[in-house]
Amino acid sequence: MRSLVLIGHGSHLNGESAAAVYRYAELIRGRGLFDEVVEGYWKEEPSLRQVLKTTASTDVTVIPMFISEGYFTETVIPRELGLGHQGPVPPEGIARVLGGRTVRYTLPYGVHPSMRDVIVERAREALPDLDAADTALVVLGHGTTRNENSNRVIYENAQALRGSGLFAEVHALFLDEDPKVGTWPEKITAPRVVVVPFFASEGWHTLETIPEDMGLTGDVTEFPDTPHGPQTVYYAKPVGTHPAVADVILHLAEEARGASERGGDEDRAWHAAWQALVSLARRGGRLGEVLISAQSGVYEVRHALDEGRPGSDLTTVVTPEGLRDLTRRDEGGNHRPVHTLRNLPRGWRAVLSEDDLVRGVHFLYPAVVEETYAHHCRTLRATPWPTTARRQTGIYSRVQRATPEQVEHVASEVCANCLRTRLWAGETLAQTFFSGVPGAIPCAEACTLLVAEVREEVSGKRGAGGHSH
Ligand code: SF4
Repeated sequence: MRSLVLIGHGSHLNGESAAAVYRYAELIRGRGLFDEVVEGYWKEEPSLRQVLKTTASTDVTVIPMFISEGYFTETVIPRELGLGHQGPVPPEGIARVLGGRTVRYTLPYGVHPSMRDVIVERAREALPDLDAADTALVVLGHGTTRNENSNRVIYENAQALRGSGLFAEVHALFLDEDPKVGTWPEKITAPRVVVVPFFASEGWHTLETIPEDMGLTGDVTEFPDTPHGPQTVYYAKPVGTHPAVADVILHLAEEARGASERGGDEDRAWHAAWQALVSLARRGGRLGEVLISAQSGVYEVRHALDEGRPGSDLTTVVTPEGLRDLTRRDEGGNHRPVHTLRNLPRGWRAVLSEDDLVRGVHFLYPAVVEETYAHHCRTLRATPWPTTARRQTGIYSRVQRATPEQVEHVASEVCANCLRTRLWAGETLAQTFFSGVPGAIPCAEACTLLVAEVREEVSGKRGAGGHSH
């Protein structure tokens, strides 16, 4: 068996950033080349600390869904996955054996050479008859002073495409560093100019900042009077949302397998955990805020507070993805970065096959089955707060200054709304939902939401009533 793990940034505040990763996971799942495709996030669940536990196989390839190398791909992700590596990732990736799994960690998809094809695709969409005689290409990057690697990919792509002979000129321009995008009329002489944003997704920069800095009024903008005569600019969609990125991801995964190819046994702990969940479901039972019941070969999942309501009163979904989408927000429409917070919306039911039940529960409560089963078997190890705090880097390293009272104060507000029991703070959990106590779910390590709130507390930015996530 082989597992592919896609890592996204995610957000405590909105679900958009995770949605792009979901979409690629679905596209790749559809190709059937991996036995499973799992997503993990820095700011959402399953978290980077949990995601490897959610994979069914011992042969795992992890791909960071980022457009360039930088702090997340070189520092945060390797650290949180426990790869024992910091700094630039070599082109062949990093392979480690962790907890019985072979884990291969690759470069981010954006730096793969085949992204050049995606740039050309995007350029052709914007200007189908592009021609080396009269068309210039601009590869447009964000640029930043924090990590010099982030602009290298732009220069490398521009250099390679210059050599392709497809364009009269190829320029690398940036939003935040020189040469700036606003200088294009001085630099480009060709009458037709295609601009391809080398960005992960459509957003504020691609929709507002770039058009504003370039003086664009739409997909095609005529400039009758530039230093080089009349010019027309064709504005392409960002590379990161092109469906061909799914192929780039598969290339990266194949290359990572490389010399360390190995059959990969199935992970026994994972199977035992899900077997236990299926047994619970067959008997019918509660897990967190939901009720699972078996009905003639299929399983029904619904909010426990909707027990007894006729099915016709509820929105019915029949796929794990449908269940995921219905439970992504609370009843007020707010994003739910931590799925064990007690804010699961009501009013729905999911009717799933046994295989789909596993994926559905994974979406509903990421890593909960694996961690709770490990606790049930006395093999779950808690990470005390000081260890979590010491691991933080960058803007989060400030949490190391939090006093135990500050951590406790924040946790008493944030964790009070969570089903989990804080083993990391010394709380104990004798029973679990596997032994019939629905809400008994362990929390082995402070989640990123709590870390973020502790940081606010230390900075004095946390309001008296705390944040309402
Ligand atoms: S740290 Fe608190 S809020 Fe976060 S998962 Fe654990 S118990 Fe829940």
